[in-house]
Amino acid sequence: MMNLISYLRRLWDSFRRKPRVPNWYKARDIYKLKYPYCQFCLKKTRVDVHDVLPCHLVPNPERNTVATWYNSFISLCSNKPWGCYYKWGHCSDPQYMKYQPLIREMDKAVNDYMLRCLK
Ligand SMILES: [Zn+2]
Repeated sequence: MMNLISYLRRLWDSFRRKPRVPNWYKARDIYKLKYPYCQFCLKKTRVDVHDVLPCHLVPNPERNTVATWYNSFISLCSNKPWGCYYKWGHCSDPQYMKYQPLIREMDKAVNDYMLRCLK
């Protein structure tokens, strides 16, 4: 069943944007199983795996291993009106050109805050 879902996702991706390298898809499927929720707000709706460094800026993406891709991801939501993907991942840039390379560190700080301060 997972292979069918993975196949359909790849097919969809090939229509809507530039297809990624095969290792990216493998890493994305593994990552999504481990983090099916937004790592910022913990919501479980409209969540997708995102590249911390936009994929088109990765030099020689075909050389990246599955592990390298896996370590370059974060799960973020696109809940309305503006989800974590837009707000934190792309710095609220309507053109989605800006990105936050320290988003993993921000995510850790937010989660530490919630654990320590919101008990
Ligand atoms: Zn979120």
